[in-house]
Amino acid sequence: MTYIHPETQAIRTQTERSQHQEHSVPVYLTSSFVFDDAEEMRASFAEEKQRNIYSRYTNPNNHELVQKMCLLEGAEAGHAFATGMSAIFSTFAALLDSGDHVLSARSIFGNTHTLFTKYFPKWNISHTYFDINDLDRIETLIQPETKVLYVESPTNPATDILDLTLLSTLSRKHNLIFIVDNCFATPYLQQPIKWGADVVIHSATKLLDGQGRVMGGIAVGSESIIDTIYRFARITGPALSPFNAWTLSKSLETLAVRVEKHCENALALAKQLEKHPRVKQVRYPFLPSHPQFELAQKQMKLGGNIVTIEIEGGLESGRAFLNAIEMCSLTANLGDTRTIVSHPASTTHGKLSVEERQSVGITDGLIRISVGLEHVHDIIQDVEKALVNI
Ligand SMILES: *Cc1c(COP(=O)(O)O)cnc(C)c1O
Repeated sequence: MTYIHPETQAIRTQTERSQHQEHSVPVYLTSSFVFDDAEEMRASFAEEKQRNIYSRYTNPNNHELVQKMCLLEGAEAGHAFATGMSAIFSTFAALLDSGDHVLSARSIFGNTHTLFTKYFPKWNISHTYFDINDLDRIETLIQPETKVLYVESPTNPATDILDLTLLSTLSRKHNLIFIVDNCFATPYLQQPIKWGADVVIHSATKLLDGQGRVMGGIAVGSESIIDTIYRFARITGPALSPFNAWTLSKSLETLAVRVEKHCENALALAKQLEKHPRVKQVRYPFLPSHPQFELAQKQMKLGGNIVTIEIEGGLESGRAFLNAIEMCSLTANLGDTRTIVSHPASTTHGKLSVEERQSVGITDGLIRISVGLEHVHDIIQDVEKALVNI
């Protein structure tokens, strides 16, 4: 039986039961798998027979997680990784050759930026950034060597929305591989493949786990692209631990209810903060004041769990705000049950110049709130109290 609704797919997709008839799937903590005889072993290594051989290649828990993610994203195939960054690195390393060029949105995860700027040159891979406000010019930035178009939407931390249909049309026209990091939306809110993406990447560490426990990454896409990525990964070894795969697969069972509530809390907080005299600006994709409100409504089911606010007074008041927070956590994660506040200008983006920060929408007084699942009144109270005390 196949199910249509993502809630059901995420709960009812399950590894085949063992002879014990367990209800909840076991953790397959095993490095390798045994063969009945020499012929079975030969056929398995020759890939005439599809089965588990070694957990660096495949494992039943990883397979279950990947299967669920393929159903949720509407993808043919996928592979799971130890972290989001290993999914990103392996995808690029598998698909790119020396001399290739990547066209990427400027607003991307900091470590992905470092991968492009510090490590790609070692392998003679170049990149160009485009500004999301400058989509008209993007086509002029495509070179004969351009192989990949790379974006995140919504972006971190500015919550800008990129038009995935427009970008996928451009990718088709120029024969590029269109890769979307869908970490901030999750497949519950946005399925980039539906809008024409070729590969969708996730840091499963964030909302997919959603409880700040394990790290993981995943890439999904067409059979042929994923096979290329898988072949690279099975040799180089960024395998996801079966225990983490089990944890993440269980987390997906509650993805829909968690993300619904995250978004409900985030919207309520965003609306409340729009009225606050100490807040210069609130950005949340599902607020009518968001510059891409209509596009967000078209592409996403709900607005996500990230709210950014701009407060008066720049760097100093940003830091003072964090110090005045009592309940919310100051930590380098997002998409947790616990609300997390951060001040990008003095932390994650502290090494960038003021101009570089501004080009990705990070002002000195910008606060990022990863809205959690606490009662929304408690979240609002903590943030409002901190605003009064800065
Ligand atoms: C966290 C994050 C990553 C990296 O994932 P890890 O699991 O930390 O390696 C990549 N992209 C985005 C958008 C992220 O937020």
